[in-house]
Amino acid sequence: MRNDLPPRRPGGVRTRLLSVIGVVGVGAVVGSLLLWHAQVGDFLGLAADKEPVVSTVSAPAVGAPPATTPSTLATETPTRRPTYPPSTPTTPTRTPSTTPTKKSTTRPVVREESISGLSPKLKARLKKAMAAAKADGITISITSARRSATKQQRLLNAAIKKYGSYKLATRWVLPPKYSAHVQGKAVDIGPAAAMTWLNKNGWRYGVCRRYDNEPWHFEALTAPGTKCPPREPHAVAKAD
Ligand SMILES: [Zn+2]
Repeated sequence: MRNDLPPRRPGGVRTRLLSVIGVVGVGAVVGSLLLWHAQVGDFLGLAADKEPVVSTVSAPAVGAPPATTPSTLATETPTRRPTYPPSTPTTPTRTPSTTPTKKSTTRPVVREESISGLSPKLKARLKKAMAAAKADGITISITSARRSATKQQRLLNAAIKKYGSYKLATRWVLPPKYSAHVQGKAVDIGPAAAMTWLNKNGWRYGVCRRYDNEPWHFEALTAPGTKCPPREPHAVAKAD
């Protein structure tokens, strides 16, 4: 009996050891799989126990973007996901959902060459004139419509340098507070053929050339279908 026992024991120990190693190994694999699953669940926002944390913490957590703890990480992913595509290039940190819409609504970018910044009256008249010119084979191009006061001042400063005095400069470029361009009530057009066409036909649409020295400059100076007023030699900066 005793002679039979020793050879069995090592074998028994080996099998036990192997089974223990096997159990530990399987346990490790299962454990890591569970951990991995939990992490994936976190990333996908599927962890059921973290849902209530999202709703309670989400309001104050929006202002603090860099999230390190698991709870805030869980709040970041669901709240940011819908707003990220439009906001990532421009606003990386603060209030990603509101800033881009504010920019697009409160700051309409009006190009100087577009008629969209003109007064409704001049814009409507000019559109009709442009269509009629096109029917005659003439394309009216807008070189300058509404200008910002800043741009107008810059043009005036350049004109003062060019003509040598304020008085001479204002024959060509009025100060911002007198400029019809800044009010959206004047338009400069081109090329020469378009100037000639509009000078001849503009009265039909109530659009008139105003100055002798500026064949490109037109304003809504008369009722459509009535004669344009006499031209002025050049612009004058009125003192008021
Ligand atoms: Zn002009």
